[in-house]
Amino acid sequence: MDLAALKARVRERVDARGASFDRIALAIHERPELAFEERFACAELVRALEAEGVRVRRDAGGLATAFTAEAGKGKPVVALLAEYDALPGLGHACGHNVMGTASTLAFLALRDVGGDLAGTVRLVGTPAEEHGNGKVHLIRAGAFADADAAMMYHAGDRDELDPLMLAMVGLEVELLGKAAHAAAEPHEGRNALDALLLGWTALSALRLVVRSDARFHGIITDGGKAANIIPDRAAARLMVRSPDNAYLRELQRRVLACFEGAATQTGCELRHTWSETCELVRTNRPLAEAFAANTRALGREMRPRRPGDTHGSTDMGNVTSVVPGIHPFLSITDGPVPGHSVAFAAAAATPRALETMRLGAKALAMTALDVIADGVLRRRVREAFDVARG
Ligand SMILES: [Zn+2]
Repeated sequence: MDLAALKARVRERVDARGASFDRIALAIHERPELAFEERFACAELVRALEAEGVRVRRDAGGLATAFTAEAGKGKPVVALLAEYDALPGLGHACGHNVMGTASTLAFLALRDVGGDLAGTVRLVGTPAEEHGNGKVHLIRAGAFADADAAMMYHAGDRDELDPLMLAMVGLEVELLGKAAHAAAEPHEGRNALDALLLGWTALSALRLVVRSDARFHGIITDGGKAANIIPDRAAARLMVRSPDNAYLRELQRRVLACFEGAATQTGCELRHTWSETCELVRTNRPLAEAFAANTRALGREMRPRRPGDTHGSTDMGNVTSVVPGIHPFLSITDGPVPGHSVAFAAAAATPRALETMRLGAKALAMTALDVIADGVLRRRVREAFDVARG
């Protein structure tokens, strides 16, 4: 079968399962689960695969809510990534309920091509994108070691081929002081909350003198126990982001210095831990162009990144550091709707979101076929990856 006929076939196979995957996407939307706790979402996708006789490997990378499945055999290997975690308090405000389903739908459509598939498609169920860098565990477990390409799409409010996803590192700070009666013996205390707030104020001042594409933000997780006790402990969780790895390291030093200074001022002790780094997403240009050609054939024109736009960060960045990859955005809304909002969570359960899920599944499956069938494309993908890595 030629490539055009295979693409037509996978489009048909996506449509054939569309209604059942609409139901799965809506069920996952109704039962949002946080990072590493996506038992329902993972089970729904695994059930859909096993119902069609797919052998699913559970506990991939040692994670209870990760899985892998394969179709075809041999090289080349194309990985499709399926995310399904949600946000605390907001549910599926990042639209992962229509993303994990799309990759699974694409995988099953490619499996239907069966013997005509001269390579392997690997579906990787990747938990904990919103918190905890689940994909890093899967990278370490070798889920992408032999992959020639890694792909997913992300739900958004516009079609964007190469969104800027920043490098990011998390910071936990803990200020330790000395408790005392706040009225009777305040002079015996060291106020850890004041230390934290002085550091917080210094962060606001720092924001005025850093690059405009730098981001740092966070929440206070402990501000003391009672109003009449000088707090002996205060803590915060922060995130530091930049599109530039070297600048990210400089920001880390300067952000931490805010709290070091505050600890000195107040006579408190500072303890801190940095998380693993979420790497910058490196969009593989030839792979992205193949994806854009496929969405165009499906009636959607991908747009380039708008100058000055920054999105969040994703552990897909770590994957694109070790495998040529793409992480385009496909709109599930009719106009601008900010991500991580109540409105975006509502958008993730609309007919528009489900229609985009099918389109995303088709475009991913068609691009996987391009990679498997086209040796020239694979060479260009590899060359672009090697150049980007230096
Ligand atoms: Zn997301």
